[in-house]
Amino acid sequence: MLNFSLSELIFSNTAIKHNISNMPDVQSLDNLLKLVFYCLQPIRNLINMPMIITSGYRSLKLNSLVGGKTNSLHLFGCAADFKVKSLKPSQIIEIIKASDVEFDQLINEYDKWVHVSYLHKKNRKQVLFIK
Ligand SMILES: [Zn+2]
Repeated sequence: MLNFSLSELIFSNTAIKHNISNMPDVQSLDNLLKLVFYCLQPIRNLINMPMIITSGYRSLKLNSLVGGKTNSLHLFGCAADFKVKSLKPSQIIEIIKASDVEFDQLINEYDKWVHVSYLHKKNRKQVLFIK
């Protein structure tokens, strides 16, 4: 069962603050759907605790405002950052690694949140830690 909403993946306080659009194009929507179906929803089901998306899709303007890399997969709807209140990023990553959930990269970013990307049929299955 899917319980993700598109708004979870496009919502951005920064976009609201700066009054910029953060609407994905058709290709990015397609990628977001795959990200949810193959990656985020299986992770949510696996963890079975409230999972907060802190950043999903980012338009070019939003990405530059938040200091994202120019080639960030967030720009294409292929990546999301999230938190689980009662778990540390390292614990979340261990749970995902031990499962059969498909992902491209799982990154523990500053021990604050988890970045996950999904590239359909091109997943690198990398686990990284950015300090
Ligand atoms: Zn990210």
